[in-house]
Amino acid sequence: MVQELLDYKSIWKRVYVQLEEVFGKATYKSWLLHLTFKEVVGSRLVLVVPTRFIRDWIINNYAQQILKLCQSYSSSILAIDVVVDNKIKNLDDSVNSKKDIKKSNYKNFNSAPLDPRFTFNNFVVGKPNELAYAASRRVADADKVTFNPLFLYGGVGLGKTHLMHSIAWHIKDKHPDRHVIYLSAEKFMYQFIRALRYRDTVTFKEKFRSVDVLMIDDVQFISGKDSTQEEFFHTFNALVDQNRQVIVSADKSPSDLEGLEERMRSRLGWGLVADIHPTTYELRLGILQAKVEKLDLGVPINVLEFLAHKITSNVRELEGALNRIVAHATLVGRNITVESTQEVLKDLLRANDRQVTIEEIQKKVAEHYNIRFADMHSTRRTRTVARPRQIAMFLSKKLTPQSLPEIGRKFGGKDHTTIIHAVKKIESLYISDKSVTEDIDLLQRMLQS
Ligand code: ADP
Ligand code: MG
Repeated sequence: MVQELLDYKSIWKRVYVQLEEVFGKATYKSWLLHLTFKEVVGSRLVLVVPTRFIRDWIINNYAQQILKLCQSYSSSILAIDVVVDNKIKNLDDSVNSKKDIKKSNYKNFNSAPLDPRFTFNNFVVGKPNELAYAASRRVADADKVTFNPLFLYGGVGLGKTHLMHSIAWHIKDKHPDRHVIYLSAEKFMYQFIRALRYRDTVTFKEKFRSVDVLMIDDVQFISGKDSTQEEFFHTFNALVDQNRQVIVSADKSPSDLEGLEERMRSRLGWGLVADIHPTTYELRLGILQAKVEKLDLGVPINVLEFLAHKITSNVRELEGALNRIVAHATLVGRNITVESTQEVLKDLLRANDRQVTIEEIQKKVAEHYNIRFADMHSTRRTRTVARPRQIAMFLSKKLTPQSLPEIGRKFGGKDHTTIIHAVKKIESLYISDKSVTEDIDLLQRMLQS
């Protein structure tokens, strides 16, 4: 046994010195450098590495070839095992401790810059965002991880990024030693692909997995069944397993995210899922007032009310509109009035005028066919009720940007297939049935006027 062990050990020494030549310098440095001999178990050669990630990668990519190299010295070696040794890990850590990594070479793994305006202080809370706000505050304040991940979702320009930055600022403020990374999903992908290109995935993994709080914004961009998604999934799991806070945002709920693997989707929904609804008039007015007050812009209240009434799309556009009228007034040196606002924002107001909501469609269609509004949400199948409801579904698909599941929900929790069926049905009736054509054209004109 001792004899055999010595044999295997010296075989390993010979194999080890060839690794750099066989696999190339980059692979050797990234993955194989730390491989060391541990023991022999039966006819298996057991090697050790410092971390799980290196182990997995070696097993998946190089173990077969390493085995062949060993077998060229002794055919009695039947397998190679790669195990993680914590002692080595500790050794490794003391050389390259978390603090050192933080200080020295985070260069490519830095958090994206945080917008100094995006703080909790500057966030106006209203009905549509109160849940998302409360959840964000809780996560930012918590000393223990409670919801993991926090999943924030909502349409464009409704404050997802603002909330994420607020959490980051808050944590950095309270715990300067905590390592917080905020990245857009695109940046995350970019960095991963870069690491692949430079064969530096070990550093990528280790660095991401050493963060205390990881925030990935707009994960809908991590779609498609590729290695990035896989990597995101592993990073995500590793962090959640280690009880590190993960915060994710997207434009849809986890279950509605397309192009994501099922296991990923379900895993994203494990923590707390908080949605941000489209803004209400009150919230829009509140946001405008807060901004005007803070920057001392001197915009009359009736102008703010006008804007809050007219610009309903999202907060980003609302802010843009305010900036434009303020800039215009400064340039031409005239007071801001509702009339001047109408003039300056002509194009924007027209675009916002066309925004129709599902509720408006349901109301108009119910009125037109003289049925109850409640029937839009019911499951009654009587033709007199079912047909108008299908028309309302069709118009919702056509005139609003809502997704099929979202439309289904607004019609009393119907499945998206019901909506597809309705849309197809009405499309064909629109062609074949003149009265349907006329009704729909009329309704559409009324809704868009
Ligand atoms: P999202 O990431 O959801 O697309 P952002 O967080 O970028 O949206 O928000 C768009 C703009 O609207 C930002 O300038 C943000 O500060 C502002 N905003 C959104 N919601 C609020 C709010 N509740 N209070 C104050 N500002 C808001
Ligand atoms: Mg955003």
